[in-house]
Amino acid sequence: MALLIETGLSDWISDDEIAKTIREMQPGADVRTPETIGDASEITMVAVVGLDNDHPKRLPNLQLVQKLGAGVETIVGNPNLPDHVRIARLKPDAPAQGIAEWFVAFILHHQRNMPFHEAAQRKAEWLPKAPIFTPDTVVGVLGLGHIGARSATMLRAIGFQVMGWSRSPKEIDGVTCLHGEDSLPTLLGQCDHVCAILPSTPQTIGLFDAQMLAAMKPGSQLLNAGRGDLINESALVDALDRGAPGHAVLDVTSKEPLPSDSPLWSHPGVTITPHVSGWHLGEALADVAENFQRLTAGTPLLHEVDRTRGY
Ligand code: NDP
Repeated sequence: MALLIETGLSDWISDDEIAKTIREMQPGADVRTPETIGDASEITMVAVVGLDNDHPKRLPNLQLVQKLGAGVETIVGNPNLPDHVRIARLKPDAPAQGIAEWFVAFILHHQRNMPFHEAAQRKAEWLPKAPIFTPDTVVGVLGLGHIGARSATMLRAIGFQVMGWSRSPKEIDGVTCLHGEDSLPTLLGQCDHVCAILPSTPQTIGLFDAQMLAAMKPGSQLLNAGRGDLINESALVDALDRGAPGHAVLDVTSKEPLPSDSPLWSHPGVTITPHVSGWHLGEALADVAENFQRLTAGTPLLHEVDRTRGY
C-alpha cells in the first residue's frame, strides 16, 4: 500500500515537501511522488488538488482520493473514477478562518465607506460621511458547513444580524437559519450582504441566474468564495447594471484564471480577488497522514465525502 502525492502545486508547496512532511508524521509510510512512483499498481491512495480524466486509469488499485482542499467537484464528477474508490477532503481551521475574514474585510470596507474616503483623499477633500450601522445590517451566509458556520458566527460576533441558508435544517446561536431552495429568495430579499460559500453540485451550478439575482435587495453586495459556477456571470453583469445587487466581490469565477476579455474585470460594480480567500493549509497535512494510516488499518476515514451528494 503506497500513498502518491501528485498535486501540481510546485510554485506554492512541492510534492516532495508534502511527502517529506507526511513521512515525518508517519515514519515508515510508503509515500511517493510522480518522480518516485515506481510500480503504479502499489498506489492505494492519491493526494491531489484536482483529478484529470485519465488519472484513475493510471492507478489500477486506487482505493482513496484525498483532496488537498475542500471542493471535490472535479473528483466526484470524474467519469473514470470507479464506484468503489472513496473520496476524502480536508477541514483545517486556517482556510475557514481566512474565508470568514475575507467576507468580513469586504463587508466592513463597504460599511465604513472606504472607497469614498480613498477617492476623497486622492482629491485632498475632507468629506465626512456616516458609516453604515452594523446592528442595522443584515448579512446572509449561504452554506453553513465547515466554513459557512464559522463565517456566520464571526459576523454575528461583530454585531451584524445574520441569516444562514443550507440544504438541511441548522441551529447556530444568534443566526436565523433557513433551508431548502424555496427559502432562498426570502433570505435574499432581506440581506444587505450575501456571502456564498457553497460547493459546486448539480443543485448549486447556475443557482444565481437572472431570476435569483432579481430577488436581491437593491444596492446589496454579493460575495462569492465558494465556486464560480454558482453564478451566471452574464446575468450578474445585467443585474449589476440595474443596481440589484449593487456590488459583487468574487474570489472565484466560472473560468480560472478569469479570461482577460471578461466584462467582470472592468465592471465598476465588481471586485475580483484571484481565489485567495482560503489560502493557508494550516495543520491539514496531518489529516492526509492520518487518512493513509486509517485506510491501511481499515478504520473510518476523516472527512469522507458523500459521492452521491457531491460534497
Ligand atoms: P461543507 O461541505 O462543510 O459545507 C457545505 C455547505 O453547503 C453545507 O452547509 C451544505 O448544507 C450547503 N449546501 C450544499 N448544497 C446545498 C444546496 N443545494 N442548497 C443549500 N445548501 C447547500 O463545505 P465547506 O464549508 O468546507 O466548503 C464549501 C465550499 O467552499 C467548498 O465545496 C469549496 O468549493 C469552497 N471553497 C473555496 C475556497 C477558496 O479558497 N475560495 C477554499 C475552500 C473551500 P448541509 O449542511 O445541509 O449539508
